[in-house]
Amino acid sequence: MFKINDNYLKLPGSYLFSTIGKKVNAYAAAHPDKKIIRLGIGDVTQPLAPAIITALHGAVDEMSRAETFKGYAPDLGYEFLRNAVCENDYKARGCNISPDEIFISDGAKCDSGNIQEIFSVDNKIAVCDPVYPVYVDTNVMAGRTGTYDSVRETWSDVIYMPCVAENNFAPQIPAGEGKTPDLIYLCFPNNPTGSTITKSQLQEWVDYANRVGAVIIYDAAYEAYISEEDVPHSIYECEGARTCAIELHSFSKNAGFTGVRLGFTVIPRDLKCGDVSLHSLWARRHGTKYNGAPYIVQKAGEAVYSPEGKEQLKKQVAYYMNNAKYILEGLKNAGYAVSGGVNAPYIWLKAPDKMTSWEFFDYLLEKANVVGTPGSGFGPSGETYFRLTAFGSYENTVEAVERIKAL
Ligand SMILES: *Cc1c(COP(=O)(O)O)cnc(C)c1O
Repeated sequence: MFKINDNYLKLPGSYLFSTIGKKVNAYAAAHPDKKIIRLGIGDVTQPLAPAIITALHGAVDEMSRAETFKGYAPDLGYEFLRNAVCENDYKARGCNISPDEIFISDGAKCDSGNIQEIFSVDNKIAVCDPVYPVYVDTNVMAGRTGTYDSVRETWSDVIYMPCVAENNFAPQIPAGEGKTPDLIYLCFPNNPTGSTITKSQLQEWVDYANRVGAVIIYDAAYEAYISEEDVPHSIYECEGARTCAIELHSFSKNAGFTGVRLGFTVIPRDLKCGDVSLHSLWARRHGTKYNGAPYIVQKAGEAVYSPEGKEQLKKQVAYYMNNAKYILEGLKNAGYAVSGGVNAPYIWLKAPDKMTSWEFFDYLLEKANVVGTPGSGFGPSGETYFRLTAFGSYENTVEAVERIKAL
């Protein structure tokens, strides 16, 4: 009789978005006259920019002719895209990364979930709390996280780094016996808190990782939303990152590719365990388990870096960040403790009057017909916090903020 991977059975149900959906549907059914505004979505809403549409059409036409038809893509991705990424995301920022250290993929969620499989099951992971759930759950599936405490909602073998108002939502370097991680997941600008850290703070993490022999898995999905000067766009802006850091990128949030699917992972050749380079392991994995992002989509990705594409996407990001500013300032004026929203499309707020995250969710839904995401769904330190996103339309964003202010 076959046996299953029973690590999957250890996963607690992911009730967050299904519970939100059920509550919203029940409310809508009972109050059909109310207009509900959803500011809980983590998905973009603006259509693809014209430069990207043109590139997609052109690539589709190429596929229709024998002379320009493309089959399987090269293992690491097309050179035209790896070169564009290298020039724009790395060389232009003074980062020493070469095109053959860039692995094109179909998105950062898959890569952030798959990357753990090139590491030993004995490695200990450290994550921010609250956190993007993919990092933890994929390590649970691999059997790396120990046992689950359903009261505290934490795993015995995971190091949690609380990110709360008291530390300005920046994780502290783990200290104490049994608290030295092997793999450190960092995501800045952060989902869900919208916070960032400065280049010198990130440098401390790089120095720490090199000192203790840890690898930092750096998720830069929201890099395009950075507006402040001293916030790093890439971990490779830090000295020594080539020997300790893997970086994940996505085209989802900067270019609206959530339904198109494109991303990349950077593994420098200097990142080694003894004689073994992680680059060669990931290349082996890529070659064995993956057959590449579509040519059509990689051409669309190339257009992200064209002069027209850059101009159009700057406007798209500015549209969302204008929403973020409206939410941030509106709620601040209404007396809420709010953060994020400056270098990220997420606003993180403290529920008022000692409400829990879910109590505030119900309150907002019933009194303002506005939907957000309870912070406790992202980890125990998210309790009493609440996430609003800037991915809605401007009109809905304004109306939602006005309703909250009127409460
Ligand atoms: C949206 C998001 C991603 C991007 O995922 P894709 O698979 O590229 O769409 C990655 N990391 C975080 C933290 C995100 O919020």
